[in-house]
Amino acid sequence: RRDEAHKRATEPAVTRAGVTIKVGANVGSVAEARAAAEHGADLAGLVRTEFLFLDRDTAPDADEQEAVYRRIAEALGGRRITLRTLDAGSDKPLPYLPAPVEANPFLGVRGIRHSLVHRAMFAEQLRAIVRVARETPVSVMFPMVTTVGEVFEARRMLDETTGGNTPAGMRVGMMVEVPAAAIRAAAFVPYVDFFSVGTNDLTQYTLAAERGNADLLSLASGLDPAVAELIDGVCRAAGDRVLVAVCGELAADETVVPRLLASGVRELSVAPSLVPLVKQAVRQG
Ligand code: PEP
Ligand code: MG
Repeated sequence: RRDEAHKRATEPAVTRAGVTIKVGANVGSVAEARAAAEHGADLAGLVRTEFLFLDRDTAPDADEQEAVYRRIAEALGGRRITLRTLDAGSDKPLPYLPAPVEANPFLGVRGIRHSLVHRAMFAEQLRAIVRVARETPVSVMFPMVTTVGEVFEARRMLDETTGGNTPAGMRVGMMVEVPAAAIRAAAFVPYVDFFSVGTNDLTQYTLAAERGNADLLSLASGLDPAVAELIDGVCRAAGDRVLVAVCGELAADETVVPRLLASGVRELSVAPSLVPLVKQAVRQG
């Protein structure tokens, strides 16, 4: 099965019912983008842009970011790249930004909350993203969204960046990884082109069990029915107006893939090396 999967890695993943499911890769560097292409990824479903911002003394400016996003797009041969805006927080502190100590960083100023506080830095990132989107297919998505107001504000800043001249192929979406956003998915539908469910954080917040806590591994499972119900609800709210993707670890679980597709998920994004196996899971249903 593994051999078969690797032989067919670059072919599209089509279900038995004839639906094509895009299988992308999650990448956190240019090298991973190359690995994604080598493993047949249809797109980069999640580019974790944090790697550009961590472990340095100053923030990268728009020129530097643009160059790296371009290299990622090139590594993927011009296939769509989904650039997630910075998901920083006091769990991943930036040396050049003074961050107050938080007792619970996972419940603190992270993701889009952080970007809407540090607006100059956010605007700089949006500038880089828009420049690349004028030349290659780019999706932009916001992490840790909780309220419609956050999406509204982020989109307003994006509009300001494009000067009303939106790049033709640019799509705008949000991560669904906070239970409040999953529960109220319908309220977000008018404001986005796609939802990308981040099952790592959605699981941790739904079950109140910290991701990465070795003592809670069995509790903090994306297989929990509470998580499944939330994903189902997101798909129902999205209907055929908004595409639903899943980019958390759960998407790489071959036994879960059929259930996600039955819920209405139409795109999956996983670690580069797992793309062939996930495509095969889609084919075999
Ligand atoms: C997630 O939360 O599921 C996700 C894909 O984002 P990250 O793992 O980068 O938090
Ligand atoms: Mg997350």
